[in-house]
Amino acid sequence: MTAETVFGKIVSGEIPVEFLAETDRVVAFNDMHPQAPVHILVIPKTSAYANVAELAAGDPDLLAEIVQVSRELAERFADGDFRLIFNNGANAGQTVFHVHAHVLAGGLEEGSLVGS
Ligand code: AMP
Repeated sequence: MTAETVFGKIVSGEIPVEFLAETDRVVAFNDMHPQAPVHILVIPKTSAYANVAELAAGDPDLLAEIVQVSRELAERFADGDFRLIFNNGANAGQTVFHVHAHVLAGGLEEGSLVGS
């Protein structure tokens, strides 16, 4: 297990947020500092994976589920098209070390990237 992060506290309910989607293994909620008209974070409930490279190696089905939930959210909250960003490592802008997908959608500006 990695050290508890803010996202671990969101999964446990210690930090209350509105879940926009929830499956047995995944939850999604709005990013508190949105960088696009739709900016949703999709995270696994498990805190076992710090980043997407670890997740891809350890549980590719869970990574695929995150992509599937992202697609459904982009259809619900925008036109179905979306940008999916995983910052992997501190030098790539990652600040929370509980793997998470940034789903950006809805009138994206060309080149808009999270953390840039
Ligand atoms: P990253 O820089 O890729 O690790 O992304 C972390 C993201 O988490 C940032 O976009 C933050 O705005 C977002 N964030 C941090 N704490 C919270 C929170 N309590 N609720 C919603 N979003 C958060």
